[in-house]
Amino acid sequence: MPDWPELAEKYLMRVVNRQPVTLVRGEGARVWDDTGREYLDFVGGWAVNSLGHCPPVVVAAVTEQSRTLIQASNQFYTIPQIRLAELLEQNSCFDKVLFCNSGAEANEGAVKLARKYGKLHLNGAYQVITTINSFHGRTLAMVAATGQRKFQQPYSPLPNGFINVEYDNLEAIKKAITDQVCAVMLEPIQGEGGVNIPHEDYLSKVQAWCHQRGILLILDEIQTGVGRTGTLFAYQQYGIEPDIMTLAKGLASGLPIGAILAKHEVSVFEPGDHGTTFGGNPLACAAGYATLKFITQNSIPQNAQRQGGCLIAGLESLKSKFGFITQVRGRGLLVALEFDRDLADKIVADCLQQGLLVNKLKSNALRFMPPLIISEKEIDEALGMLSRVLEAIRNEEQASAS
Ligand SMILES: *Cc1c(COP(=O)(O)O)cnc(C)c1O
Repeated sequence: MPDWPELAEKYLMRVVNRQPVTLVRGEGARVWDDTGREYLDFVGGWAVNSLGHCPPVVVAAVTEQSRTLIQASNQFYTIPQIRLAELLEQNSCFDKVLFCNSGAEANEGAVKLARKYGKLHLNGAYQVITTINSFHGRTLAMVAATGQRKFQQPYSPLPNGFINVEYDNLEAIKKAITDQVCAVMLEPIQGEGGVNIPHEDYLSKVQAWCHQRGILLILDEIQTGVGRTGTLFAYQQYGIEPDIMTLAKGLASGLPIGAILAKHEVSVFEPGDHGTTFGGNPLACAAGYATLKFITQNSIPQNAQRQGGCLIAGLESLKSKFGFITQVRGRGLLVALEFDRDLADKIVADCLQQGLLVNKLKSNALRFMPPLIISEKEIDEALGMLSRVLEAIRNEEQASAS
């Protein structure tokens, strides 16, 4: 068998430190490596595999669509794109959808839409207020929107027009406002930035203030959307209706897709203003339609809420056993576990040995984003493996202390 990691290091640019495992197959919440070893997957393709790996309804839709029509360009109408748009509109507060191919591209499009709105209705206002520790993607403009120095510093000078302010702080937004601001862009919960959950009234206060100022609220639900936090979209838990929302990760079970959703009044693009070759292609949209239909018809967000509750309760009980755990936080199946020291690399590696895939959120924190179809039995299994890893770490530390 080829040494895949060695070949990868030879041929691929290295932009990520990979775990030493080559995955070849997945089913439900489980994946297998090239030696046939099984793992329980709590990374879920980075919050992408909402219905687990290779969900039969999506496999069937993609198989059928790939035999029928894979790509036709946006010069023509194609049916899966229209179907998916209709389903999104029926299940959200939005009127119009534009598809693209990734999260970063969806956010770029949302910012372009807000700027166009600014040109038409706000005397040319173009700036967008975003937050520190946010994550909006890796294009140059989205790196400027993403309020994290480590992503910005290698690429300066960055496109202008973004103001990064403190998260969960309406006063910080108020202080940063200028007459050149056309929108505020936020994640309902900061995902990559730490699973940071704002105060219950933050989003509604920001929305009320945006409306009073006549500027737009863009919610980046690329990570929180499509059932992840216990409702189909996170905004539904806060009694608000944003003007624009972006989706990507969990929308099509792993086929690349992004979506910009907007209220009617804000849908100001005209032919020629924006475009994409692959965006809205029949294959990705058929996968999205099958995914979203299954999620809405089978109460999948409710399962995320219920199993998320089990996961958080289990982690809380680990916290009471292991003094080095400082915090459990999360909503639905977007959950973080934080430690009083930099244990994440070691725990990720040890969990891999146990047969559990988890994500390092920070040097001292893990993130869990299992498929939304996860069962209580699988949550217990994961907690068992994690508990054994934590126990071994405690035993090692006690042995070296005595
Ligand atoms: C992952 C993510 C993005 C970027 O999506 P890509 O598909 O990687 O471009 C943007 N915003 C949020 C909140 C994300 O979690």
